[in-house]
This record gives sequence, C-alpha cells and structure tokens, in this order.
Amino acid sequence: MAETASDAGGADCRPRPPVSFELFPPRTDAAALALGRTIDRLAEARPAFISVTFGAGGSSRNRSLTVLRYMLEHTDVEPMAHLTCVGSSHAEANRLVREFLDAGVTSFLALRGDPPVGADPDAGIKDLGSAAELVQLIHRVQEEREPFAQVGIPGLPGVTQIRERPRPERVAVAAFPTGHPRSRSIAQDIDALLAKEIAGANLAITQLFWRADDYLGFVERARAAGVTIPILPGIMPVTTPARLARLTELTGVEPPAQLVIDLEIEPDADAQAELGISFAAQLAADVLAGGAPGLHLYTFNRHEAVLDVVERIGLGIDDRLANERNTTKR
Ligand code: FAD
Repeated sequence: MAETASDAGGADCRPRPPVSFELFPPRTDAAALALGRTIDRLAEARPAFISVTFGAGGSSRNRSLTVLRYMLEHTDVEPMAHLTCVGSSHAEANRLVREFLDAGVTSFLALRGDPPVGADPDAGIKDLGSAAELVQLIHRVQEEREPFAQVGIPGLPGVTQIRERPRPERVAVAAFPTGHPRSRSIAQDIDALLAKEIAGANLAITQLFWRADDYLGFVERARAAGVTIPILPGIMPVTTPARLARLTELTGVEPPAQLVIDLEIEPDADAQAELGISFAAQLAADVLAGGAPGLHLYTFNRHEAVLDVVERIGLGIDDRLANERNTTKR
C-alpha cells in the first residue's frame, strides 16, 4: 500500500502538495445559495484555486462569472475560469477574456469544449479551433491591453487611481491519461498536450481516471515527449452508482468493474459514500506517492466528500497548520 501524506507524519516537513477543486455554475437560485455555502467550506481547506466550468457555447457565461465574482468578493481563494472554443469566435473569446480579466479573474482553463451529444464533432467551432489557439489568445489579450487602468477606490465614491491591470497567472489546459474519446492514440493526446504547452499553457489538469498507473504512466510518457508543465491529477469521489454511471457516460472513462459492483450491491447510501470516498482517497495517496504535484478534486458542487478525501490523506486544514507550525519552529 502506498504511503499517504499523513503516514509520512510529524517528522516530515515537506511542503504540503496543493489541492484545488472544480465546481459547475448553479442552474437555480436555490442551487446558487447552496453553492455559496459549499464555496465557503471549500475555501477553509485553503485550496490553491477553485475552477468553475463553462457550458460550451457560452450558455453558462453569466452564471460562471457570478460564481467567480463570489469567490473574489467573499473568499481569498484564486478563482479559475474555464473557457471553451465551441460556440465562440476569436473576437467573442477575446471579449470574454477581457471581461474576466477586468473582473479580476487571472487564472484560466482553456478548452476546446464539446459539441452537443449527437452533433457533428466540429459543431459550434467557428474560427477558434483548438485549446492551443485559445491559450495563445489569452496571452495575446493580455499583451494588447493597456498595462495600467484607472480603478475606483473602495469607500471613496468618484475617486480613482492608476493601478496595474491584473495579468493572466495560470493558463491551464486539459490532459487525458486514458485518451480523449476522439483521439486515435495516447501519443496523439501527448502531442496535443505538448502543443498546448508550446502555445503558453503553464499547467495541465487531467480528466478523471481510476487507476494510479494510468496517470503515472501518462505523466512518464508526457515527460519523455518533452512536456514540462505540472500535470495535476483530476480525481472525483463517486458516492452513488447513478453518479458513476453518468460520469462514465460523460467522460467515456471506464471505471474498474469491482468499484461498479461494490457500489451497486451496497444498499446503504452512507456505505456507498464511504466506498467512493475511500477509493478516491487511496487513488489520491497513490498518485501523490508516485510524484503528483498536487490534487484537483471534482466536487459535483458538494464539499463533504472532497473534504473527507483531503482529510484522510492528511492534507486537511489542521494538518496544514500543524505542518506550518513545525516548519516555522525549525
Ligand atoms: P484539445 O486539446 O483541442 O484536444 C484534446 C484531444 O482530443 C487531443 O488528443 C485531440 O487530438 C483530440 N481531439 C479533439 N477534437 C478532436 C476531433 N474532432 N477529432 C479527433 N481528435 C480530436 N468542457 C466544457 O464544455 N466545459 C468545461 O468547463 C470543461 N471543463 C473540463 C475540465 C477538464 C479538467 C477536462 C479534462 C475537460 C473539460 N471539458 C470541459 C471537456 C473538454 O472540453 C472536452 O474533453 C473536449 O473534447 C477536449 O477539450 P481539449 O481542450 O482537451 O481539446
């Protein structure tokens, strides 16, 4: 069994690997209220960033921006905006990136996006064809902007001062350890990742996967091909058989048969959740032990299961504070 960060224990003062979370924008007012509470709880775990998905085609644009603004105004967490090529022309994406930057969002996850189920694979693609082009566009928008802007001073109506404009910090892209459903081979996925790094991406976040070796093998092949950016493993604790089935449908990534069977034969909801959480915690511990630079946890807009995973592998807030105190003492 792999050593977990908590097994490594009190004598280990290596910095804790960063944790980040992913949310999707809420569809109703009630869901928006609940999401505010979820963000507050996730923020307590001091994530490196929280990313917010974007409906390809821009359908969720305003709702995504509202969630990102909530984070800026009510927490000290770095918000990361997902952006897609599908449904956006070059000019539209340019305006959107400016709008996000002006709102103070400086981290992006640049994606191609998917056409609606059953549609032509290139449906919705205008003149912005790939995630690599979107990465370039994000950098170009920044270069074209005036480096300084007049901004208002909080509490002093009508008074402005010159401030440096926010710059894109993280420009992340997706990676597919078990292969993108439309890609011919893992080699093609690695080439796509390398192209995105060359275009200016400085972080990759993986599609979910179920076996540590899928992630670790992919990273090894990516490094051999010249990819140097950190590749964050994307992990999701799946707490019901229905959710596992839906995820498999959405991602095309087949889960281990044993996990499917175990979740299905377990009649009790709490025991199902326990199965999903302990599976995710073990996977997280294994990839960290194999050298993963951190963890990106898919939350499904619920904080309980992901925070449980974080606690179990010893990356919870209490462990961090203890670690920081130990480090300060030395
Ligand atoms: P690219 O880097 O352009 O391509 C990725 C791979 O797919 C490459 O191997 C490429 O060769 C292959 N490929 C792509 N298109 C084709 C094609 N037409 N024919 C053959 N091969 C092809 N989607 C959303 O809509 N909104 C989101 O917020 C969102 N968030 C995501 C977050 C993460 C971490 C991940 C992993 C995925 C997310 N997606 C999201 C899904 C993503 O948009 C799709 O998986 C999309 O199909 C690929 O996007 P990409 O940015 O990786 O594309």
